[in-house]
Amino acid sequence: MTKQIKIGNVFIGGGNKIAVQSMTNTKTSDVVATVKQIEKLQNAGCDIIRVAVADKNDAIAIKEIKKEIKIPLVADIHFDYKLAILAIENGADKIRINPGNIDSNEHLAQVIECAKQHDVAIRIGVNGGSLNKDSFELYGNSAMALADSAVRYIDFFEKHGFFNIVLSVKSSSVQKTIDACKIIARKTDYPQHVGVTESGCGELAKVKSAIGIGSLLVDGIGDTIRVSLTDDPVHEVLFAKEILKATGKDKDFCEVISCPSCGRCKFDLIGTAQKVKEYVKEIKKPIKIAVMGCVVNGPGEAKEADLGLAGGNGKVVFFKKGQVYRTVESDDVLAEFLKEIDDIK
Ligand code: SF4
Repeated sequence: MTKQIKIGNVFIGGGNKIAVQSMTNTKTSDVVATVKQIEKLQNAGCDIIRVAVADKNDAIAIKEIKKEIKIPLVADIHFDYKLAILAIENGADKIRINPGNIDSNEHLAQVIECAKQHDVAIRIGVNGGSLNKDSFELYGNSAMALADSAVRYIDFFEKHGFFNIVLSVKSSSVQKTIDACKIIARKTDYPQHVGVTESGCGELAKVKSAIGIGSLLVDGIGDTIRVSLTDDPVHEVLFAKEILKATGKDKDFCEVISCPSCGRCKFDLIGTAQKVKEYVKEIKKPIKIAVMGCVVNGPGEAKEADLGLAGGNGKVVFFKKGQVYRTVESDDVLAEFLKEIDDIK
């Protein structure tokens, strides 16, 4: 199990719920716009928000933003160690830096010291595009180089008495990301922030994130996740939540399983499944509902469902845990089934 790290009022690692993160794309110093976007992300289910700190005004704005939001705020800093210090002093709950682009070890040590004094966690974020020089010389542009860079930085932080660490090793290559995260999981017990970076836009970007993040989660790797999409960040959060559901990491929802239908199906399975899914979308309890095309395979295939329906000849049967208990006319199926759902939700 990974170590537990506190970020504001959220704990990650150590078996805690996997936290969903996203990043604002407003100018951080535009406090009104940034707060507005964070509120939307909070409402969508974002647990931790990251903001870019590109200049002094962004760092100072953190103090005002923090007054308006409920979720922990992470300051994302590149190159300028002074901005990292200023962000911490203005109340950031965590900072994200890539030690490889801070100009000197002395300056990096100053950031570490400041984080230590304020009890603020640091995410060491290594990306394929900014590897540690020695790691790159040894391993080229590979998963091993990503992991080796992170391990070298951990070593530096620990030598400075700092252990409040979250790690991320990201690449736009799904395979490289998975391999690097697995190496890291074998080498350290710090919590990992996982995601496929720069995955792009559209369906392919989502598939890359689902495979990259999802395959790590099913292997028990990943304590906080960020789906990276070239899109409205609200979509990142919504999709991240779907990944958590699909991998069984979020069980508090009503899952509708349904068969693809085939020539045996004699009722409107697709329409019924869609309407049932819409009906149960607000349920926050672990319930499984099956919508199956026929009695030949339906109840048997969906044995573990709390409630299910399966089409027959002009009739539809309702079943619980694989056992048929009621038969209704095809025309009444939706109305009657929704009543059954009301009884168990
Ligand atoms: S449950 Fe019935 S209708 Fe659905 S795919 Fe299986 S055999 Fe076909």
